Amino acid sequence: MLKRQETQSKDARTDLVFTFEQDKEIILVELIKTVLKLPDYKQILRYYLSLRDKHSYPWKISGYLIGYPNPKELVYDKRSFKWLKLLYLEKDIPIQIRICEKCRKAYSNFLYECKFCFKRR
Ligand SMILES: [Zn+2]
Repeated sequence: MLKRQETQSKDARTDLVFTFEQDKEIILVELIKTVLKLPDYKQILRYYLSLRDKHSYPWKISGYLIGYPNPKELVYDKRSFKWLKLLYLEKDIPIQIRICEKCRKAYSNFLYECKFCFKRR
């Protein structure tokens, strides 16, 4: 059973929690529409730690922190490597997409060829 919770706050932050009861798995998603900063990391870490208190083994909790890369600020600390994955907008998750003329799949507008069928534009 998949439960989806969404809260939207005034700082344009969307937090998603996916709970897979059967697989005993929880996936946190923190989507930031700007560059990632330390408070964003601390936010998802807080969620993670509070869930960790309520769901012990065999529950598996992982998280995705999504936003634009911030070269100046390190958002990771050592505790995060096992459960947290950073995904960057445009690099990992295309925002501006283009539909391939040949295979009709969507790919990043920054690429010069379709990443699925390699048709050049
Ligand atoms: Zn294609």
